[in-house]
Amino acid sequence: MTAFAYRNGALHAEGVSLVRLADRIGTPAYVYSNRALVERYRAFATAFAGLDALVCYSVKANSNLAVIATFARLGAGADVVSQGELFRARAAGVPANRIVFAGVGKTEAEMEAGLKARILQFNVESENELRLLARVASQLKRRAPVAMRINPDVDARTHAKISTGKSENKFGIEIPRARELARLAATLPGIDLQGLAVHIGSQLTSVEPFAAAFARMAELARELIAAGHGIRRLDMGGGLGIVYDRETPPDLASYARAVRDAVDGLPIQIVLEPGRYLVAEAGILLSRVIYMKEGTAKRFAIVDAAMNDLIRPALYDAYQPILPVARPRPGANLATVDVVGPVCETGDVIAPGRALPPLDDGDLIAIGGAGAYGAVMSSTYNTRPLAPEILVDGARYAVVRPRQDYAELIGRDRLAPWLKAPAAAKRKTKKKK
Ligand SMILES: *Cc1c(COP(=O)(O)O)cnc(C)c1O
Repeated sequence: MTAFAYRNGALHAEGVSLVRLADRIGTPAYVYSNRALVERYRAFATAFAGLDALVCYSVKANSNLAVIATFARLGAGADVVSQGELFRARAAGVPANRIVFAGVGKTEAEMEAGLKARILQFNVESENELRLLARVASQLKRRAPVAMRINPDVDARTHAKISTGKSENKFGIEIPRARELARLAATLPGIDLQGLAVHIGSQLTSVEPFAAAFARMAELARELIAAGHGIRRLDMGGGLGIVYDRETPPDLASYARAVRDAVDGLPIQIVLEPGRYLVAEAGILLSRVIYMKEGTAKRFAIVDAAMNDLIRPALYDAYQPILPVARPRPGANLATVDVVGPVCETGDVIAPGRALPPLDDGDLIAIGGAGAYGAVMSSTYNTRPLAPEILVDGARYAVVRPRQDYAELIGRDRLAPWLKAPAAAKRKTKKKK
């Protein structure tokens, strides 16, 4: 049973009517389904049953505390890529020994934070990072648990902006360099080389690139173990794709089989870092049509959600499904519209050229597949407040991030002293005399 379905003529999130939510909370608003989160997580974890596997939810896909906490309660760890995400993961109750810290540009402060928290592993992506981490750890009289992130030079066959495993991408260490760095790591007292990591991209829709990357990882692991390195963990990254439109991503079983096949016979722990797969379909962005607008060439639905709320269509040419909240009459004629936001950018498009049932001013729509890389990538461009986030569970819901108000939105700006009221400045000069 899907989390978002029509009941009595209106789209619901589980047992909660989206019409009612829009009335109570306003639009635009992100709405997440607890059941969808839990079902996705359980299915994912179950696919790796029997392996020594740790699922580290990739926090950057949706870092709302309530979402992280939902997974933490189910036993998940976290994959973080910044000190801020580490802070969030800890605040949401993820145990430090289930946290892996990835990312190409960890600063000294971030390393210190990870070491002090005693996280499970740093995924190191370059020689200079390895050397700095060794120094920071030694200063703290610690040994940093390290996995080397490998760049396996595999084409993930996904959008260029979310492909990370080719040699021309900034991510990871090429295999010949990894052999050298393993030897270097063994000489650094602050480093405990425990594993290898890989992550070749996001929204992968075929299993072959995964299988190729995992095979290269496992081969390198075997080689390093034979050379005496203490490799005991393989972090297989994230990247499993979902269906936004007509994609045919691998099913969980074949994805899990690619992992199992690669690590067969290796006495190691597996780490998995799913992000999008766990959250994308568990969220919608609820929005209202402000105006319908008939141009000579096109018909536009100008809605109150914009690129600042959901940037995926503008940034990745991403397809997001659009569902009218009022169930369309059977046999309703479809018409092609550009669903656009009110932001002053031609690129502020949510869904170009979409065939939709008739829409009117004031109608509600749900933008699907918005649980991943939605709210987390939002901004306040055009001084638009961050949209609220709502978590639904059965017939109840909770606002897990209220809508930002205008005072809060401008409240961190400061006038420079010379811009303060001239009268006040004069008074000060007088006092001095
Ligand atoms: C973004 C990211 C992930 C998650 O990717 P998804 O496509 O959302 O599953 C996992 N690991 C690392 C290192 C990442 O950067």
